[in-house]
Amino acid sequence: MTRLTRADLDALPDYVPGRNVADLARELGIAEAIKLASNEVPYGPLPGVVEAITEAARTVHRYPDMGVVQLRDRIGERFGVAPERVVTGCGSVALAEILVKATCLPGDEIVYSWRSFEAYPIIAAGGGATSVRVPNTAAHGHDLTAIAEAITDQTRLVFVCNPNNPTGTSLRRAELDRFLGEVPSDVLVVLDEAYREFVTDPDVPDGLETYGDRPNVVVLRTMSKAWGLAGLRMGYLVAQPEIAATIRKVVTPFSTSLVAQAAALAALDQEAEVRRRCAEVVTERSRVTEALRKLSLDVPDSQANFVWLPLGDRTAAFTAACENRGVIVRGFHPEGVRATIGTPEENDRFLAVAEATLTETA
Ligand code: PMP
Repeated sequence: MTRLTRADLDALPDYVPGRNVADLARELGIAEAIKLASNEVPYGPLPGVVEAITEAARTVHRYPDMGVVQLRDRIGERFGVAPERVVTGCGSVALAEILVKATCLPGDEIVYSWRSFEAYPIIAAGGGATSVRVPNTAAHGHDLTAIAEAITDQTRLVFVCNPNNPTGTSLRRAELDRFLGEVPSDVLVVLDEAYREFVTDPDVPDGLETYGDRPNVVVLRTMSKAWGLAGLRMGYLVAQPEIAATIRKVVTPFSTSLVAQAAALAALDQEAEVRRRCAEVVTERSRVTEALRKLSLDVPDSQANFVWLPLGDRTAAFTAACENRGVIVRGFHPEGVRATIGTPEENDRFLAVAEATLTETA
């Protein structure tokens, strides 16, 4: 048969979403399974969001505002940046993809840590770019020195995920200052801050506040995590005006839906509640980390809403054993397991299952 799609994409791994909880519960014959696999927050939509969606639903026969004017104004106001510097998209993953489109020609290089966000290799390959993966340090964090050394004349883009998904580790200001000083001015650095709202360490800089004005830095954020809008797909980035203008040229038209725009505006009214929820996640993050360390796991400090269990070869067995007990976590074989922080009850259940599973897979 004549081949109609690109052969180089065959080798690409599929993006694996977390399993469906209802399916798993049915399969196991248990009342309820829980999913701690996709770094969502467990509290439901923020107050006012469902009402805003219902209201917006009345006009879904019309296209959304393609300029996303009201929402970009609002985001700009919130972060003290001009709205022309803000671009929204169908999740920040779509914006990451558009950044590749806007910067890379076939064969250009994109440098990032590995492990980091699993979509980076997919979007790099999709855009015809070459991935250059730099191994994480022994402490599961970014090796910024090696990343800087990996940059060549072909490098157009560097993704720096801070805090890092899936390890939860984060970069401090002094390291980032030094790194950004070393990156050539014709390489765009994307600070992917999907988990920024969960950061409590004052040494971990807010990319937007600290580096937002650098000419070659783009800050990527999402409303999927702390803001509770994962299902609606709403991300944004802040870039220099010329960069934002180019990105806007290649962004998929109308890709921030009318409903997503309305929901995001309603969510942005609830920042106090977001902070309260994040504080609860942070308290639970400490508790879960300590409990896992008591099980002799070398869990790195996390600044995100998940924790990393560096289980190595035991990763696949641990993930499967948790699933057999109705707890879905994300295994990245053969490195480790990422578990999202849920409600206190969900975390208790995960910890009990982890303890039982670890004895089994020891
Ligand atoms: N960046 C990172 C580091 C992530 O972990 C995720 C989601 N898992 C995203 C971006 C994409 O988020 P979304 O597309 O839902 O905005």
